[in-house]
Amino acid sequence: MLAAARQRWLEATELVGNPSSLHSAGRAARRIVEEAREQIAEALDTRPSAVIFTSGGTESDNLAVKGLFWSRAATMGESATVIASGIEHHAVLDPVEWLEKHEGARVRWLQVDAAGRVDLEDLERALTADAVSLVTVMWANNEIGTVQPVAEIAALCRATGVPFHTDAVQALGQVPVDIHAVGASAVTLSSHKVGGPFGVGALILDPAVPVTPVLHGGGQERDVRSGTLDAPAIAAFAEAVHHAVQHQSLHAAQVRDLRNAMVAGVLASVPGAVLNGSDDLAGGGRLPGNAHFTFPGCEGDALLMLLDAAGVDCSTGSACTAGIPEPSHVLLALGVDEQTARGSLRFSLGRTSTQADVDRVIAVLPPAVERAARAGSARRRP
Ligand code: PLP
Repeated sequence: MLAAARQRWLEATELVGNPSSLHSAGRAARRIVEEAREQIAEALDTRPSAVIFTSGGTESDNLAVKGLFWSRAATMGESATVIASGIEHHAVLDPVEWLEKHEGARVRWLQVDAAGRVDLEDLERALTADAVSLVTVMWANNEIGTVQPVAEIAALCRATGVPFHTDAVQALGQVPVDIHAVGASAVTLSSHKVGGPFGVGALILDPAVPVTPVLHGGGQERDVRSGTLDAPAIAAFAEAVHHAVQHQSLHAAQVRDLRNAMVAGVLASVPGAVLNGSDDLAGGGRLPGNAHFTFPGCEGDALLMLLDAAGVDCSTGSACTAGIPEPSHVLLALGVDEQTARGSLRFSLGRTSTQADVDRVIAVLPPAVERAARAGSARRRP
């Protein structure tokens, strides 16, 4: 955890009150929560009343997707449609599919280009053709790092009066996140992605946009999200958001230089390696710390294990279904074939990454790819 966030958490744990209680200990805890709400609102250029505290990104996504759908579907009947991109995180994708299966939602999946960018003309067509309950498109993708044109998407949604939800879990601290400027109706945030504690996050929700609660109970958080608030975690989360926003541009510049050195090194040292996602390595079209490659002929999982043994952490983005690794749904949505998707890996650079880390990857990757490719071709031999 970020040192300043941990300090704030420790200070707040000295208080014993429940922020919903009226006695003085409760009022002291309430003050901590309200100060945190104001700090987050100020960092993201939104109103404090828009900040709904939750248990994290997954809950915020579920609340936005289900809550916006339910609040509008009642008047739309069977034609109520959810518009979503196929490259969403499972915390969005699965609620959308759940609504389709259990609540009769129609789902319109948006086309994306080879870099994972949503096709705005396709969105325009979808918005006018259907009775749309909500549009959900993530601010930045967690696997390939593509940053979406969220301001343009929000403008199209506003023009048709449709609420727009965006998952900004990966974007916060990496690219500018100005909620007022973008004009989204609902924005998901998670604390642990910006150096705050696990198990806390927020949905920034325009107070004018009705949402049906997912959690019912004590009526906390404007009756949108019941449950006793964890004041110390919320205070630490606010500190982490403040820090992430204050240091975003410096952080992005540093990590982008390292990432670009790594991309150049990997492409030069591994024959056939392909960089996936946006080629906007200098600008804001790709998360600055994201590098995602395909190594043709390799199994990503085998390569991941070889790199792990060499002290390099990376991720395949594949999900296990019934014990069988499935290729990443994000890569499949980009039109990548299954075999290529299986040979793909993501490297993430962050606050603690150094040039020595990059040098290490460039040194250990070529022999690891060679070994993984040999193992792959031996397995494929009849
Ligand atoms: N959305 C995105 C884009 C993510 O990357 C993650 C987590 O990695 C989540 C949602 C889920 O957030 P949480 O872990 O806070 O539930």
